[in-house]
Amino acid sequence: MRWRDRRQSSNVEDRRGSSGRKIAVGGGLGTLVVAILYLLLGGNLGDNAPDLQLSPQVDIPAESRPLTAEEQDAGKFVAVVLADTEDVWNMLFEKQGKSYQEPKLVLFTDLTTSGCGAARSASGPFYCPEDRTVYIDLGFFAEIQERLNAPGDFAMAYVIAHEVGHHVQNQLGIMERVMSQRDRISERDFSQVMVRLELQADFLAGVWAHRAQRMQNFLEEGDIEEGINAAGAVGDDRIQRMTQGYVVPDAFTHGTSEQRIRWFLKGLRSGDLSEGDTFSTNDL
Ligand SMILES: [Zn+2]
Repeated sequence: MRWRDRRQSSNVEDRRGSSGRKIAVGGGLGTLVVAILYLLLGGNLGDNAPDLQLSPQVDIPAESRPLTAEEQDAGKFVAVVLADTEDVWNMLFEKQGKSYQEPKLVLFTDLTTSGCGAARSASGPFYCPEDRTVYIDLGFFAEIQERLNAPGDFAMAYVIAHEVGHHVQNQLGIMERVMSQRDRISERDFSQVMVRLELQADFLAGVWAHRAQRMQNFLEEGDIEEGINAAGAVGDDRIQRMTQGYVVPDAFTHGTSEQRIRWFLKGLRSGDLSEGDTFSTNDL
């Protein structure tokens, strides 16, 4: 993927290497979203649930160090991808007569505070609707590259575009509509709706790639395969097999690998937002 010497977003807040401090953390609706997004990598709320019982204060280990050249490079890459998402979503919102509020993106190491409570690297990248911010510990990318065998820079871009997809859903009121059903339908039905929300974020990542390619011509040989590989690597069935040795369909929150790839490709091929209604389709 061609990304060097291109515009970097000014919406990145880099907290890596910053010194430790006590932080207050909160709960609420955002905590649920975090809980669900925890499943992206954790796959098993049983393991992570205790972490979500947030204490009012969290100690961040004191640390202050300069970033390595490699870390600085990774930060620039993230800022270029975020800038690409801004260009695409500003344009697509404008076409619909709407204005796009660009999200923030926080890079952190190990632990940080968010509008949705404490963010840990174990949670994987997530979007917090409360403060409209994407949180990423770049250690996650090292993990998907090694543990899930999904290498490549476009794989990283896909994950960022998926999280920005959640922001787009938030901006369009889709996330609020979904969350308002939480107390009205069974847990099982709600987790099915969450799968639809996740698959739509994959579709939106595909739309982004289609549009960004037209604007920037940034894709290189093998990039799409990397994205597909990443979409497949973070499917719930794959993660659950890795963590538990078997698949529990009721606990799915992101969709199977096959579903995630299919919706990503649908967005990638068409670039057409009207094809992304994962909520009313019978063919998920
Ligand atoms: Zn997601």
